[in-house]
Amino acid sequence: AAKRAGKGRIELYRPEMSSGQARRLDLESGLRQALDRGELVLEFQPVVRLRDGALVSAEALLRWSHPVRGVVHPEEFIPVAEETGLIVPMGRWALREACHQAARWQRVLEPGADPVAVAVNLSARQLELPGFAEDVEAALAASALPPHLLCLELTETLLVRDLEPTAAALRRLKEIGVEIAVDDFGTGYSSLAHLWSFPVDKLKIDRSFVAGMRTEQGEAFVRAILGLARSLGLAVVGEGIETPTQLAALRAAGCGQGQGALFSWSLPAPGMLRLITGEAQLPIW
Ligand code: C2E
Ligand code: MG
Ligand code: MG
Ligand code: MG
Repeated sequence: AAKRAGKGRIELYRPEMSSGQARRLDLESGLRQALDRGELVLEFQPVVRLRDGALVSAEALLRWSHPVRGVVHPEEFIPVAEETGLIVPMGRWALREACHQAARWQRVLEPGADPVAVAVNLSARQLELPGFAEDVEAALAASALPPHLLCLELTETLLVRDLEPTAAALRRLKEIGVEIAVDDFGTGYSSLAHLWSFPVDKLKIDRSFVAGMRTEQGEAFVRAILGLARSLGLAVVGEGIETPTQLAALRAAGCGQGQGALFSWSLPAPGMLRLITGEAQLPIW
């Protein structure tokens, strides 16, 4: 069967390919050109302080605006981008673009308003690459975004890979002043070992656990994560908050920040900018 060809080889569609394989091949070739053609875009999902709903940051989420298929979401193309290594230039672009947008937010905030940080998702391939910390420094310098307003989100599966180069890159990033968050906390493996070995500032509680708070056991689970975070001095963001009940449960458990459909889905850059300038508002819960 037509499986992955080696790097740089062109594989053509053949009639015996399954539709899944053909689709995959089409994704891969399209993705190679997406960056050059300017088809990648970032959307931003607001993150609020749960106590009062104040906007504190936004997570940059990659979208591929495909000429034929319309908007393709990351679940579909990130795995392909990771396997092909395309995630490296794509991730570098996302980092630069996110810093650029966030620097702009700081310039248009109302006087006296608190700064709004930006969070960027990383892939293992990026972090392992020699010179990644320098890439981040360069992106910050190019945009003039203060380092403490950039948060890098890592998944635990990412942190499972080669520990030492990853730890070294993270230490360097900490020196620069960038924040580090563990994304989807609780869904990966050896979470506690990671908190032990890496200089983490923040935990993002996976939305499956937020949804699970409707049961007593699920609620105990989230409270345990919050207790751990408190002991370690880590900030916590609850992800995927969709209902007032979930929000109330997270508030009662002492979770500091949150994001989700209840507040806002991800917004294109102009929509995010309107929130920053106060032309648009988030719902108050
Ligand atoms: P993530 O980092 O955990 O991002 C949160 C995901 O939850 C986003 O999906 C967001 O749209 C979705 N979400 C937000 N609020 C709600 C809600 O209330 N309910 C539900 N059901 N979902 C909600 P999205 O944008 O499709 O991204 C999926 C994943 O793709 C991200 O998960 C992240 O791991 C990855 N990703 C996105 N952008 C990038 C990127 O630039 N680089 C890398 N390496 N990965 C990225
Ligand atoms: Mg994330
Ligand atoms: Mg997440
Ligand atoms: Mg996720």
